[in-house]
Amino acid sequence: MNNTVLVIAAHPDDEVLGCGGAIAKHVQDGDSVYVAFLSDGVASRQESETVEATRKRAEYANEAARILGVKQTFQLPFPDNKMDSVPLLDIIQELQPIFDDVNPNIIYTHFYKDLNVDHRVTYQATMTIARALPNSKISKILCFEVLSSTEWSNEHERFSPTAYVSIEDTFQTKLEALKAYDEEMREFPHPRSYRTVEALAEYRGAMSGLLKAEAFEVARLIL
Ligand SMILES: [Zn+2]
Repeated sequence: MNNTVLVIAAHPDDEVLGCGGAIAKHVQDGDSVYVAFLSDGVASRQESETVEATRKRAEYANEAARILGVKQTFQLPFPDNKMDSVPLLDIIQELQPIFDDVNPNIIYTHFYKDLNVDHRVTYQATMTIARALPNSKISKILCFEVLSSTEWSNEHERFSPTAYVSIEDTFQTKLEALKAYDEEMREFPHPRSYRTVEALAEYRGAMSGLLKAEAFEVARLIL
């Protein structure tokens, strides 16, 4: 049986950093992958600049989705870096129809202790919608790590992965998709650099006996 996968990310580029390799692998295996973004990732500036920045970010997201083989993306309108100013119920009400439409059995989303507040809110909204109701189709919820947010958290409870996906065969595709967001990338040793992305893939690989891997915390797994 092929899977229906929904990635719920706060910002365009989180999906590639967090699980771009896993997305490409799902697509290779014949699964259908959808991505929902809760914010456009563009901080408010002067209105004309914002419109242009939003248009460009959407273009990058579409290009990354095309490279990864994502079937469809959805963009919700919540404010960048201030999703904690929006009632959770409003976010859930906007996300629910997408969720109902896609009807996923596998979900990827953020780690709940990330430094970025939008990531935390995204996790909360996702877990509320995906709560384990009787006859729920959801069998797997995995939380990904996003460089320059997950590792920057000062919480005592740190990201402790327990699930790994080999991305040996899909790392190049992940890298190519990430290049769609080149404007967001920085020079090493910034964590959001191509070199750090590769280093993390190798580090997570070394933790799991694989050449390259993406690592996840399991939020739910039904076997
Ligand atoms: Zn983000």
